[in-house]
Amino acid sequence: MQKFTELNYICPDYEKEKASLLKSKEDMAAASSYEEIRDLWLSRKNTDQYLDMLTDLAYIRFLTDTSDSFYNNAVHIDSIEEPRIRLLRKECDDMLLDSPYIEEIRAEFGDKIIQDMRIKRSLFGEKAVPLLLEENRLSIKYNKLVSSGKSKEAMSDELEDIFHNMIHVRTNLAHSLGFDNYIEMAYRIQGRIDYGKEEISSFRRQILDNITPACDEFEKGRPEDDSVPIGAVGDIVRSVKSIFHEISQETGDYIDFIYDHELFDVEPRLNKRPFYCCCMLPHYKVPFIISDLKGKGNDALMFIHELGHGFAFYTAARSQKLFEYHRSTVSINEVHSRTMEFLSYPYLELIVGEHQNTFRQNHLYEALRYLPYRCAIDEFEHQVYENIALTKSQRCQLWREIEQKYMPWHAGNHHESVKRGTSWLRQPHLFNAPFSYIDYNFALMSVFEFYGRSENNYRETCKDYIAFCSKGGSTNYLNLLAAGKLSNPFSDGAVANICAPILNELFS
Ligand SMILES: [Zn+2]
Repeated sequence: MQKFTELNYICPDYEKEKASLLKSKEDMAAASSYEEIRDLWLSRKNTDQYLDMLTDLAYIRFLTDTSDSFYNNAVHIDSIEEPRIRLLRKECDDMLLDSPYIEEIRAEFGDKIIQDMRIKRSLFGEKAVPLLLEENRLSIKYNKLVSSGKSKEAMSDELEDIFHNMIHVRTNLAHSLGFDNYIEMAYRIQGRIDYGKEEISSFRRQILDNITPACDEFEKGRPEDDSVPIGAVGDIVRSVKSIFHEISQETGDYIDFIYDHELFDVEPRLNKRPFYCCCMLPHYKVPFIISDLKGKGNDALMFIHELGHGFAFYTAARSQKLFEYHRSTVSINEVHSRTMEFLSYPYLELIVGEHQNTFRQNHLYEALRYLPYRCAIDEFEHQVYENIALTKSQRCQLWREIEQKYMPWHAGNHHESVKRGTSWLRQPHLFNAPFSYIDYNFALMSVFEFYGRSENNYRETCKDYIAFCSKGGSTNYLNLLAAGKLSNPFSDGAVANICAPILNELFS
């Protein structure tokens, strides 16, 4: 493939795209053999992936230069067309699901794709389209607001309004599809097939019992700002390359590919969104990394984190036939990215020099300290969608109570947002990816396990990690954990067992 800057963007012709989807649907309905319907379905997927790649390309170019009106417009048009396109794609999948060849599909591609198609079907219908458009509209409004440069305080009323409207739109959406509430629907969106509310609630309880007291103790003596300065962007980019070469042959080959094709943008610039993400270009089976390197040690690890997502996608895309299997849910994808951070530990000297030990301790503690916060967000989310009649001020009161339960050390914090109970407004997942935030906690349990194993046998752990990445999202959460020889974080005592060595390393 060419370098990223040389990739050509062609404005999609959405009318033509919709007509072609309708044609595929008719052809699939008329198919008279397994091979025929399978080939139609696969070739449909190829076309869809090309369109998705164009969408992602426009999105990346918009994120890296939000003043570019051409790509701004392309992203806007796509958000309007997307629900219709999604509906037609689902209808094509329905042709396959309802065909007499479904068992052949299962035999060739596994059970997961059928499950995914059934989930998609339950999440979508003609009646849902206007509500999805409304949800997209609120999401765009949110994204515009948070990147407007306004202060958190100045935005807080508007954010509360957007969230309030989102709760109502999402609840109506869930009702229109026959769910009792949005929570049920969100669990489906998250692909939570093999665990549910009970498991998650028991997990939150385990964090509250085991991690909250440890963090509470530690927070009392914690220094304010402990990020280590690490120098110029060019140096970081070079050091990160060396680290990937140290970790394994596979990560070394991957980083060479990424750098040679310029599949990253890490320098802060005016009009570039100051955030970190790993976008995927499905048609080329490559990632594109956006970072914002400002010269602090954590920036470098966040760059490594996004590269870790990219590595998993790149690896799975070369081992799994279906695009749907190239990524998984957050609970797995975050294992890929965060484990890469921990696999960098032996080479941190390249980034932070003599500060490596302090830096490593801080990084490890940062990982631990977010566990209670994410549980608080998750509990809050459950309660607001269970009680949609709460007023905006009742919601803030609720957050204050939950926040102090999971993070008692916040009680002494006199920041305005903590006193008013509005600090949850800073959490983008509540707006853009509901009910997914706690998945980062589940993932962290597996990351801690990989980390512990790497301390004992680094090379063997890297091999296991790469094998785990190559599985992508080809099966359910608990099956993937088993394949990676990782524990089920929901089982009794799991959190205490997994975190014991971490607590020991930090507090002994
Ligand atoms: Zn991530």
